[in-house]
Amino acid sequence: MTALRLYDVHCHLQDTRLANDLPAVLARAAEAGVARMMCCGTAPEDWPTVLDLAARYPRVRPSLGLHPWYLERRTADWRERLEALVAANRCGVGEIGLDHHLPADTRPLQLAAFRFQVALANRYGRPASIHCRRAWRPLLEELKAQGGLSAGGLVHAYGGGPDIVAALARRNVSVSFGGGITRPNARRPVEACRAVAADRLLVETDSPDILPSGCPGPHNEPACLAEVIRAVATARGLEINEAANLTWDNARRLFAGLESSEERG
Ligand SMILES: [Zn+2]
Repeated sequence: MTALRLYDVHCHLQDTRLANDLPAVLARAAEAGVARMMCCGTAPEDWPTVLDLAARYPRVRPSLGLHPWYLERRTADWRERLEALVAANRCGVGEIGLDHHLPADTRPLQLAAFRFQVALANRYGRPASIHCRRAWRPLLEELKAQGGLSAGGLVHAYGGGPDIVAALARRNVSVSFGGGITRPNARRPVEACRAVAADRLLVETDSPDILPSGCPGPHNEPACLAEVIRAVATARGLEINEAANLTWDNARRLFAGLESSEERG
């Protein structure tokens, strides 16, 4: 059997559930063929950790952002700090987003934070990693208002319908699938996965959350991407290695600007 090569486009290695056991987590990832992991920060307090992990581990790439769940962790100077870090480091922007499961009174602040970070990604030509729950209309409106994502990006753990996939593509946004598509009764993610253009399909774990079916746990980790790619391959009618190669190529293209020049080839 030929070894798979996989890109986990969205995970949180800085989470203590993984960080406390990271050498073993990364060894299991390597064994499963996970050759790149995009590690997404969520609030100012974890940005230095994310950058440190990316500096220490060659398979880890950094992305920095303020997640809508953690708006209350923002500091008075979070915008300046984020911009300075983005300017100084080869990193993506995210995890950012809009979440309408949260109380409605947080929406103005969510939108302001999202607006600033999309503009930041576009100003520095960086890919963005987006979280969206039941906020598709405001998400698409904001992306349209800003002319889409100049360096592309993705909606992670995609939970929208197949109809929204094309609207996202028009804003230069790809779609990533995680543990949700591995559920035995998954229908919506399977339908959405079939609707994605071949060059916009990505896979992720979102570890340590969203444990895929078939993974031992207790926490999700990048090695579990093997279960996700199996489910994506089944949904698309592909061999597992075809799905792996397709999503690897898509992720490498999206994140090419984050590789140093000798690693880009
Ligand atoms: Zn996440």
